[in-house]
Amino acid sequence: MPFESYFTHDGVRLLFRAARAAAPVFPLRDWQGQNGIILRHDVDLDVTAAFRLSEIEAEEGVRSTFYFLVTAETYNLAASSNRALLRRMADAGFEIGLHFDPQVYAEADEAELARRARAEGDILADIAGQAVNSVSLHNPSVHGRYLLLDGWANAYEPAIFAPDRYLSDSRMRFGRDPLEFVTEGAGKVVQLLLHPLHYTQSGQPYPAPMLNYLEGAARTVDCMFRVNSTYQDRVGHTLAAAIAAAAPHWTL
Ligand SMILES: [Zn+2]
Repeated sequence: MPFESYFTHDGVRLLFRAARAAAPVFPLRDWQGQNGIILRHDVDLDVTAAFRLSEIEAEEGVRSTFYFLVTAETYNLAASSNRALLRRMADAGFEIGLHFDPQVYAEADEAELARRARAEGDILADIAGQAVNSVSLHNPSVHGRYLLLDGWANAYEPAIFAPDRYLSDSRMRFGRDPLEFVTEGAGKVVQLLLHPLHYTQSGQPYPAPMLNYLEGAARTVDCMFRVNSTYQDRVGHTLAAAIAAAAPHWTL
């Protein structure tokens, strides 16, 4: 199977099925040193894409950890729609973890970063209705700050973050065949990181995942302004059409 075909919903479903057949698949909170597959997701762009991926996993009988940014530029976990999705994921047996971006606190030392992470974790726990004691770092290869926080399960712990036991789809590329990788969970612990935004019905490459996000955002704006008669007269229910008309004139 060509690596790109894993980015379709059907393709990733087959990957989950193969993983489950090969070895136990579990969220990081359930790892006590045993062999198996730690399945992890960093949610960088969009909560909706994460929720959709969790539904596919639940249908395939696997559970994982979804790491959310409290400091995201593109989603707000405290919005009622996202709160509901996080609760549903937590209730369905998924672990909700903190995706922590140290670059937000550029001047902070390690102690201050630990305090900030705990504060963000408390916000996330309140939203998800679940204790949050698990962290993954956002873009560590960019900023080089691989901090380990006391009392937290950490996705970058050396035992589960080494070249022979870790595979990710970062930049929408797999360094090796993920199907072959997950079979190794039978004989040792391995960690698979998938970014939900990469997984769509069609599996199209960049910029399709970003355009999907923007389409959803345009629909959100349409809903917000449904009660505004001037907006309705001028735009109707399709901000997307107005964007398409305006886009050729944007000077970015
Ligand atoms: Zn990230």
